[in-house]
Amino acid sequence: MFMCKDVVENIMGYIDCELDLQTLKELEKHTGDCPECMAFVNTYKRMLEITGKLKDKPFVTPEIRNRLRILLKSKVKPA
Ligand SMILES: [Zn+2]
Repeated sequence: MFMCKDVVENIMGYIDCELDLQTLKELEKHTGDCPECMAFVNTYKRMLEITGKLKDKPFVTPEIRNRLRILLKSKVKPA
C-alpha cells in the first residue's frame, strides 16, 4: 500500500522518470486519490520549472547590463 511518506520518498525519482513501472503506477494511483500528495507533486514540479527557467535565464542579461552601464555613465561626471 502506497502511503503519503512513500510519495515524498519517491518524488525525486518520479520527477526524473527513474521509478520502475510498479512504483510509478502506485504513486500515480495514490496522488489520484490523495489531494494533498497531488498538490505536493504539482508544487514540486512547478518549483523545478521555475528554478530551471532561472538557470537558463540569468537575472543579469546583456540587456540589463547594457542599461546599467548607460545609467552609470549618466551618473558619473567626466573627470
Ligand atoms: Zn498522500
